[in-house]
Order: sequence, then structure tokens, then C-alpha cells
Amino acid sequence: MRKTRYAAAAMAAVAALTLSACGGGDEDATGSAPESGEAGGETIRVGIKFDQPGLGYDEGGSYSGFDVDVAKYVANELGYTDEQIEFVESPSANRENMLQNDQVDMIFATYSITDTRKETVAFAGPYFIAGQDLLVPTDSDITGPEDLEGKNLCSVTGSTSAQKIKDQYPGVQLVEQPGYAECVTAMGGGQIDAVTTDDIILAGLAAQDANAGQYRVVGNTFSEEKYGVGLPQGSDRCEDINAAITKMIDEGAWKEAIAANTEGADYSYNEELNPPTPEPCA
Ligand code: GLU
Repeated sequence: MRKTRYAAAAMAAVAALTLSACGGGDEDATGSAPESGEAGGETIRVGIKFDQPGLGYDEGGSYSGFDVDVAKYVANELGYTDEQIEFVESPSANRENMLQNDQVDMIFATYSITDTRKETVAFAGPYFIAGQDLLVPTDSDITGPEDLEGKNLCSVTGSTSAQKIKDQYPGVQLVEQPGYAECVTAMGGGQIDAVTTDDIILAGLAAQDANAGQYRVVGNTFSEEKYGVGLPQGSDRCEDINAAITKMIDEGAWKEAIAANTEGADYSYNEELNPPTPEPCA
């Protein structure tokens, strides 16, 4: 049952990639994105994850999750209606390329702000701060990355999660997949001892019906992941996006969105770090 569900998700992901490879936004004959606050009849292309329940999730062409809710709020503030938003799948490894190649206008995809990424893309935000953690089978005795020496750990290509393991835990057997759902499937098959990424992503996967009762998040975070809004370098949208995020927090819509999207998951966000204050635009 679980395999069938993930196989369908994987096929949908391939189809989405194929479509975006064919040129992405067909709505704009000039190929240039509309300016902030001048949306008119144009659409805005927003990169999200399609396979992270509670954050960015494709339920047969309707999209749900906290990233999706923040993206909609921000796009509305920039002058776009929900109907003018075109959601595009942005897997971890493709995000910088998609921004650099003008395949998306902005990305809300559990996308951590890092100095390395700032060499090629720009960020607004942060709008959330998560922490790297581990997902393990319910009966596992793993309590943190120190317990993973010689064990098989799965993470995703192009993520800060995989990079941190390579940099700081070289004794761990790191297996990379294109998405975290594939990692959980591999753990279900017994080939993998643990999955690592941000706690909120792991909690959403653990809470899926197909995974219920099988896995638990260890609850011992070992990084700070500031979720930013990915933008092409030179974008003039950063200030407006930061203002929209601040408004969403001040109005209470941020709190409602995080509560609604983590309902049913065994997760509570770090209240010392959240909601964050957006950083000044570069
Ligand atoms: N937030 C981390 C990152 O940006 C991990 C989650 C992800 O792969 O999206 O790489």
C-alpha cells in the first residue's frame, strides 16, 4: 500500500519535472516576471516541495502545507490572487538552478538560508526556523548523530542535512535520495537505519497514515535551519516579501498556519526561535 502511494508520488514528480523542463511559465510571452504590486493578469511561479506533508504537498493538483500557506499570503500581498499562482515542484537539489534559469520567481521549499547558497541566489525571510533531527524506527535506540557511526543514514541530495553529515560525521554511511519520502520508503524496507533532515519535515512524514506508529523523531536537534524565500539574485522583491511575512506574523495568520499544518503530527516548533524576524535585505 505504502509503496504504491510513493510510486504514484514519484511518477507525479517526474511528470512535473518534465513539464518544467519544457519552459516553465507559459503565461508570460515575454519571459519576464511581473513587478511587485503590478500583477495585472500575470501569474507568479512559486517553487515548493510536492512530497513533504504539512509543508509542501501535492494532493492531486491541490497544494497544502505551511510553505504553501506562507507563499499564498506573500503572493497575495504582492498583488497576485491565488488563481495567479503557479506552483512548480522544486526538489532540494534543483532550487538554485531553478532560480538562476528563470524557471521560478520565488521558492518556498523548506529552503535554508546559507552563505554558500547566497553566492548564487538571494533570500527574503526567514519565515520559520527548524532544526536538523533524525527519524528512526519506533523501536530504535539511536538518540543522535553520534550513534550513527557505521550505520546507514538517508538524506537528500542538495540539502543542508546531507552536507552537515558529510562535513561533521564522516563515519556515517550516507545514502542520498532525491526526496525524503524515498528515504522513509527505504527505511521501511530495512536498508536504512535513520533519515535525517529538519524536524518539521520528519514529523510530517511520520504522521502520514501509511507511516503511522512506525517511526519517531528523535527530538535532539543539531542545527538551526532558517527557512528563507529563495529569489534570483538582483530581485527587487525582498523588501516587499519581508513586509508581507511581518504582516502575516503580526496578524496572527502565521500562527494559525503553523498550527493547522502540524495538527496531528507529533511536533511543536521552537518558541524561542519562532516566529522569526526577517533579516534585512542585502
Ligand atoms: N532545510 C534544509 C535545506 O534547505 C533541508 C530541507 C530540504 O532539503 O529542503 O537543505
